[in-house]
Amino acid sequence: MQIDKVYEPQRFEPHWAQWWIDSGVFRADAKAPGKVFSLVIPPPNVTGVLHIGHMLEHAEIDVTVRWHRMRGDNTLWLPGTDHAGIATQMVVERKLAEEGLTRRGLGREAFEARVWEWKAQYGDTIKRQMIRLGTSCDWTRERFTLDPGLSRAVREVFVRLYQKGLIYRGEYMVNWCPRCHTAISDLEVAHADVAGHLWHIRYPVNGVEGASVTVATTRPETMLGDTAVAVNAKDQRYLDLHGRTVQLPLMDREIAVIVDDLADPAFGTGVVKVTPSHDLNDFEAGRRHNLPKIQVIDENGAMTAAAGAYAGLDRFEARKRVVADLEARGNLVKVEDYPLSLGKCDRCKTPVEPLVSTQWFVKTKPLAASAIEAVETGRIEFIPANWSKTYFEWMYNIRDWCISRQLWWGHRIPAWHCGECREIAVALEAPAACPRCGSANLTQDTDVLDTWFSSGLWPFSTLGWPDRTEDLAAYYPTSLLITGFDILFFWVARMAMLGIEFMGDVPFRQVYIHGLVRDAERQKMSKTKGNTIDPLVVTEKYGTDAVRMALLQGAAPGTDIVLTEERMESSRGFANKIWNAARFLFLNMERSGVEPWVPESLEEFRPMAEPDTVEASIEDRWIFSRLNSCAEQVNRSIEQYRYHEAAQVLWHFFWHEFCDWYVELKKLSFRENSGLTPGWRNTLAAFESALRLLHPAMPFLTEELWQRLAAGGAGRPKSIALAGYPQYNREGTDFAAEREIGVLQEIVTMARTLRAEAKLDPKQQLEGALYSRTAALETAQRNAAAIQTLANVKLEFTAGTAPKAAVIRSTAEFDLVLHVPQAQQEAQLKRMAKERDQLVKNVASLERQLGDEGFLGRAPGHVVEGMRKKLEDYRAQVEKLDGAV
Ligand SMILES: [Zn+2]
Ligand SMILES: [Zn+2]
Repeated sequence: MQIDKVYEPQRFEPHWAQWWIDSGVFRADAKAPGKVFSLVIPPPNVTGVLHIGHMLEHAEIDVTVRWHRMRGDNTLWLPGTDHAGIATQMVVERKLAEEGLTRRGLGREAFEARVWEWKAQYGDTIKRQMIRLGTSCDWTRERFTLDPGLSRAVREVFVRLYQKGLIYRGEYMVNWCPRCHTAISDLEVAHADVAGHLWHIRYPVNGVEGASVTVATTRPETMLGDTAVAVNAKDQRYLDLHGRTVQLPLMDREIAVIVDDLADPAFGTGVVKVTPSHDLNDFEAGRRHNLPKIQVIDENGAMTAAAGAYAGLDRFEARKRVVADLEARGNLVKVEDYPLSLGKCDRCKTPVEPLVSTQWFVKTKPLAASAIEAVETGRIEFIPANWSKTYFEWMYNIRDWCISRQLWWGHRIPAWHCGECREIAVALEAPAACPRCGSANLTQDTDVLDTWFSSGLWPFSTLGWPDRTEDLAAYYPTSLLITGFDILFFWVARMAMLGIEFMGDVPFRQVYIHGLVRDAERQKMSKTKGNTIDPLVVTEKYGTDAVRMALLQGAAPGTDIVLTEERMESSRGFANKIWNAARFLFLNMERSGVEPWVPESLEEFRPMAEPDTVEASIEDRWIFSRLNSCAEQVNRSIEQYRYHEAAQVLWHFFWHEFCDWYVELKKLSFRENSGLTPGWRNTLAAFESALRLLHPAMPFLTEELWQRLAAGGAGRPKSIALAGYPQYNREGTDFAAEREIGVLQEIVTMARTLRAEAKLDPKQQLEGALYSRTAALETAQRNAAAIQTLANVKLEFTAGTAPKAAVIRSTAEFDLVLHVPQAQQEAQLKRMAKERDQLVKNVASLERQLGDEGFLGRAPGHVVEGMRKKLEDYRAQVEKLDGAV
């Protein structure tokens, strides 16, 4: 029963973290009985280290998962990491650069080997951190998106989609990062507002002496690749241009005038240049009009041979030269300042270059339809519900998904190109020969798949698909997904589409979207602002439980979470308070020679009558009644993801009911009996139940204390994490006990307030009197000893109302008078005079309103009735004060 004097979580948290794993406490069993509750982790990047956003996400998941496990559900939290294609490749490339090596210099195979090496060495940082923080995952089922099994699932999905015509290869305009050398999805382009320019350039019209048109562009270097200019059919100004050509300056190329909606008569001059190779809209217009494509910028962001005199120049250098040359030749009409939104690579911040290339795509519209329907019909529920709107908006406007990436780290596309007949063979494994010409000259596609392709399969690939495993049968669909809004499209939507397509059912029933963690000024945390909180630093300082509690207290659905040092500090104080209560109980158990003990039936809050007492003590009955109410609220709150509410209810119960009142009342009887009273079983049972209620929120503290309390019991679960979660009992409210302790609390609180107002030393013993004409008098009398100890006031009890007194407080049921020495009364008198003034004002105001016929005619009856009652009450209080003063 030895317990340290001071609450030092660092001394026991690492122990339990490891013990939970070694003892298999979180290991799931597909064949176990009970309702299934399963959840897959949003896989952190393998390059990742734990940040406070993870800690919030994991705390919310962990509370829910532990709660389900304790309720006896067949519970699985499946952990793992994502290979994070581009992010990981960049980390390793940076390391190579330090050694003076490059990826291309090493070659593909050697580079991949280096990445695996890196992964083995550094790739499990986040796992170690999660284990230390006690996240209750089943680590025996840990997965990595590049595991052989998951890679097989990726190939299987690719081949099936291809055979169904849902994967195709096509020329398309992609966002190209000249630094990362890969196509990146629209979602990975970060837009930044920059001060750009609009260059107006004159193109001479062929065949009309002296005629010209002016086009405007924010990227003059692309004019080198123009293959047309466009005018709108409705634009009356340019009817005579239809069918003509213009001469492209600098390149001296004749290009067509096309009539197309691409030209907006209201924008600029109404004439626009058309560069099918370097702009998405122009690309599409080019398709409509069969325009040639001339690529003048290459994959490195340098000008191609097609750029003539500018070949080899960097795209931004070329811009300067083109502008200078246009000006020198008199083709530059003017330059305007022009704010624009510049697309940059989200990873490396290099301006994105729209380029035409051949890529692999998933046709998403057919997949989106059933994923939309799943949310519309409620088979997938978003919490908070308004996230479904965001989801629909995106899904209704979904574009085909470019899934190929020009990277080396990831799932290589299972397609083989024939060197003889150019046939493309898509297959699970490398074919021996070309299916068309039989040639053995086959090379695998060099691209890898977008990292979100494999994470899109996560809920079923991790459970063993395409094999029909026990895990898949038991745990799919998963019950819940908890994640951030930033990956709603990247990930949640793709899982919905692919899950329904391949499993015939939704991947999860509910999606809870959590908020962001912000600082005290409600600022977003960022490294550049320097306001980040490192979860490992603060857990070391305050303890994991305290940081969890601080996060949970702010975790209301649909809001961001403010996390401050003060909040963590006070949560540590909360843990400390519980520690001290435990210490007090343990010391008394030891003193009384009482063995650790846990009741047989844990599910109902019923105090036990002891053989040598007629009934359980009033405070025992009361604390069980409060526990019951606490259990009701906490269960409901966790079920509805109202973590903040669960945290507040637990806080209030432990601090303001269990520690402040129950333990204080117990101290009295322990003192009287010099040790635990005969009802000690109730005290231990109540504390043990309370620990279980708190366990999902503060797992370490509760395990540490519970093990001492429940140790050695045969047939008991080995961990509090496997003990039953206390449930509400319909008959468990003890109204008589609640009322009795309620009166006691009211009197003690009032006496303490009176003392504080009169600025009296809490240690100064006072005498006083309680007057009442109700049953409260008897109740108070029964608890006189408790009142005397808790409020340090010795009371006399009288039936009736109080006479005039200096220090007095009244309720509807009783008057409490403290006999305060004359010298201390003056401050009190002043306060009462002030209070009286306010009451007189209130009386006057109510009298005025109640005397107003018009008001009485308009106001509803119950309002008028309420006002009359109030008026009476105010008058009575004035009278009492008059009596006192
Ligand atoms: Zn980049
Ligand atoms: Zn062939």
